[in-house]
Amino acid sequence: MSAVLQNPSTISAAHTNVKLLINGKLVESKTQVWKDVVNPATQVVLARVPFATQDEINAAIVSAAEAFKTWKNTPIGARARIMLKLQELIRRDMKKLAACLTAEQGKTLPDAEGDVFRGLEVVEHACSIGTLSLGEFAENVAGGIDTYFLRQPIGVCAGITPFNFPAMIPLWMFPMAIVTGNTFVLKPSEQDPMTTMLLAELAMEAGVPAGVLNVIHGGKEAVDALCTNPAIKAVSFVGSCHVGEHVYKLASTHGKRAQCMMGAKNHAVVMPDASKDQSLNALVGAGFGAAGQRCMATSVVVMVGEASQWIPDIVSKAKALKVNGGTVAGTDVGPVISKQAKTRIEGLIAQGAAEGATLELDGRNPVVPGYEKGNFIAPTIFSGVKPGMKIYDEEIFGPVLIIVNVDTLDDAIALVNANPYGNGTGIFTQSGAVARKFQNEIDVGQVGINVPVPVPVPYFSFTGSRGSKLGDLGPYGKQAIQFYTQVKTVTERWFDDSLTNTGVNTTISLK
Ligand code: NAD
Repeated sequence: MSAVLQNPSTISAAHTNVKLLINGKLVESKTQVWKDVVNPATQVVLARVPFATQDEINAAIVSAAEAFKTWKNTPIGARARIMLKLQELIRRDMKKLAACLTAEQGKTLPDAEGDVFRGLEVVEHACSIGTLSLGEFAENVAGGIDTYFLRQPIGVCAGITPFNFPAMIPLWMFPMAIVTGNTFVLKPSEQDPMTTMLLAELAMEAGVPAGVLNVIHGGKEAVDALCTNPAIKAVSFVGSCHVGEHVYKLASTHGKRAQCMMGAKNHAVVMPDASKDQSLNALVGAGFGAAGQRCMATSVVVMVGEASQWIPDIVSKAKALKVNGGTVAGTDVGPVISKQAKTRIEGLIAQGAAEGATLELDGRNPVVPGYEKGNFIAPTIFSGVKPGMKIYDEEIFGPVLIIVNVDTLDDAIALVNANPYGNGTGIFTQSGAVARKFQNEIDVGQVGINVPVPVPVPYFSFTGSRGSKLGDLGPYGKQAIQFYTQVKTVTERWFDDSLTNTGVNTTISLK
């Protein structure tokens, strides 16, 4: 085990190399291409991540294919017990995982624990695989004939994950894939791969056999290799739209099942009858938590009618948030992931102002004592935003909340439905009738009613829609069981020579 993986809370030395996980062993890559993993609050280099060679990627896939031969028939109870152990180990190492996550990703320590916890819930759910994967049986579908279906694993599956949830999103994928009897090759974000590696090590400690879970690192070449290798049967991707569209096309044209959970522009509609203080608190938390780098962050507030009078209140709540390093107690907003992300977001803020939106709160270049080199942007709010402005049309993925005013609920619904994304939306109101109309008419996959970040718990599934998703099935919950299994239907009869022989039947009917 490398020092970087053993003791993430004290990591500071440059050039500690993140390992690959191939066939149950942590191995040093032989690649010539490395990238620094940088603490976004301090710019300290935490480690180097390799861009795995094609030979290393192939070795990971071959090891997964070999392991599948026995893992697919490992009893359900044995697989479930490994998940039970894994959830125990994640709980044991919660603080260590969160410290690593904050160091490499930047979110606050409590939010980092939340990231791990939302993934842990998926592992807990995976422990129920016995009942989750049951087939169905119908007796006497014809004379003496029964039909049943069973679920079988599909083979080697791959997962490609983004930087913003380095614990939760890998845990959306590999526990469900392997508990259903598949083997897995995971490619975490090259921006923050260390927390994911800690989780992979815990999976080994929990008893996942060699080759059942493999981890490779890299960028486009690694992703393309996973999407095109004939041994891989399914690809699960979470990340931006432009990469997701590429992954979906490449994986599907190579005959694989594919699911891509992608970018978003989540609108929260605020009715004038909403509980003002609690609604605005929820919106500010959902807009600026994790520095706005959540796919389900509220990014557009749609103020209906007189609710627009609350703009000064939302601005003063946002202004009160504390911007600081994620390890500092009381921090609300940490840094964004990289210098490039910061520059991009600042560019969008400048463009929003240039295009005529009102910059109610400008969070550019905040002073953060002790963290002068960090990638900080403080909460930023625009009002008077309209479709067609770049800050409306593009996913900003930073601590920038934009406000659009409309006259009626119908106008709000029309606005949300005209937006190409369909990840999440919400309505804040005291009226059941208004909420019911909204949830019925809105064309978005995940709806919150007075709930700002409506990410479903794992007994359901993540159900983004339209431009935010490609593929029919979501990454966890019941839909993941369907994604990671092939249904086989068996129609069965046992001849009993003591009964009447019905003779030759040349029709398609079962008798
Ligand atoms: P990204 O698309 O840049 O990267 C995602 C993964 O794709 C990474 O592993 C990366 O190495 C790989 N990748 C990057 N460029 C590639 C290329 N050209 N070809 C092939 N692979 C490539 O996304 P990100 O910046 O890491 O994450 C933020 C994005 O993810 C946002 O758009 C956010 O909305 C989205 N996201 C969506 C969900 C969801 O469930 N819908 C959840 C989290 C994040």
